[in-house]
Amino acid sequence: MRIGLEVHLQLPTRSKLFCSCPTNGDAPNTSVCPTCLGLPGSKPVLNRKALELGIMIAKFLDCRINDRIWFSRKTYFYPDLPKHFQITQYESPVGNDGHYEHEGKRIGIWRVHIEEDPGRIKRVGRSGEEVSLIDYNRSGIPLVEIVTAPDLESPEQARAFIDQLVTELRYLVGINVQDETSVRVDANLSIGEERVEVKNVQGLKNLERALRYEATRQTKVLDAGKRIVRETRRYDEERKITLPAREKEFEEDYGYIGEPDLGEYHIGQWARETVLKETPFARAERMSAELDIPRQTARQVVLTSGSLADLLEKLCKEVPSEKALQWLLGPISSNWGALEKVIDADGGACVIDIVKADASGSITDSEAKIRLQKCAGVKSEGTPACASNPDMISMVNSFLDAHPEVVKDLRNNAKAANSVIGHVMKETKGQYSSKDIVECVKKEISKRV
Ligand SMILES: [Zn+2]
Repeated sequence: MRIGLEVHLQLPTRSKLFCSCPTNGDAPNTSVCPTCLGLPGSKPVLNRKALELGIMIAKFLDCRINDRIWFSRKTYFYPDLPKHFQITQYESPVGNDGHYEHEGKRIGIWRVHIEEDPGRIKRVGRSGEEVSLIDYNRSGIPLVEIVTAPDLESPEQARAFIDQLVTELRYLVGINVQDETSVRVDANLSIGEERVEVKNVQGLKNLERALRYEATRQTKVLDAGKRIVRETRRYDEERKITLPAREKEFEEDYGYIGEPDLGEYHIGQWARETVLKETPFARAERMSAELDIPRQTARQVVLTSGSLADLLEKLCKEVPSEKALQWLLGPISSNWGALEKVIDADGGACVIDIVKADASGSITDSEAKIRLQKCAGVKSEGTPACASNPDMISMVNSFLDAHPEVVKDLRNNAKAANSVIGHVMKETKGQYSSKDIVECVKKEISKRV
């Protein structure tokens, strides 16, 4: 089975691709102007940010960036497109011939280009009395289209591939996929010789279902000794089946011509100077290799939070990675809500000291946990120094009053303090560290001498 995908994602810009209308229009047909409505005399102006994001994505996918790019008019007639052509890229996309590593498999990326979204048609009313409503707020929204080679081998793999890609692009350029249905995909699938395209599938769940249905359908046709017809189908979400859509349109039907109002852009230099952030899956791969930790664990940490991953890298410089992970996945993760702010402020110094002390054996497990909670500020209000802690002072003093032999012993033997420490810890249910109690005991003893 061979599956190729054309994935459409909205680029996160404040304004549309060729005009200054905001992209967050709410009430239908309020975020529109002569340009995105395609009124005569209006002229498009390219949104620089959208092009920049397109370059970043193409570069991330290891594409060859075309130095000279331009836009084309793709002509078709449909109510979602008032000017009868969509401005897209045809002969000169931002990038070609890239690839992306997914679960150890190299997926070819044929092209990455940017284009405008048409308007949105919504059908309302009962069957037979349907009315079509149209919203041009979508018209001119910037999209990136990523076209893969037919290198995917199952519907599950196709879904997982897009899922991972979207996660990467969210970190890389801030692509905001609010819910999984905002990913739109055209997919082609072939079991035998001929391929069938399933157009405009909304969301990853539907994509997987549509591809599964299509794989079963084609297998049955071939098993019956018939031939697969090359065609375009659509996915019916209600009935969960694919249906023939229309005769396959060939590229020449669209009558592509260069968009004369936009001209050419030279982006080679710009692309070379663009520096990309490290994405989560790339980071997990690197950490797994450098720190010698399982890949799945590295991913889990990186996807939880960038600060958690930073902390793991720092801890691994100080203690063996096994110890670091034991702490990170245990007590640190369970206090993460409170610790994250502290770690962002002190660079993790407080936590790293504790883990180091634990690894060297200089403090006990329970002491380490108490100190960690103090770091997180969980008990910080209840744990000031001895001087300002009347409860602890009176507890220590009443114990010393009741055990004069301990006071005597303490003058010669520091270990005699253990009984006081044990008593206070038990009374306060481990609220204070032994260090704090010892400090308090010393102070109170010195007053008695
Ligand atoms: Zn506009």
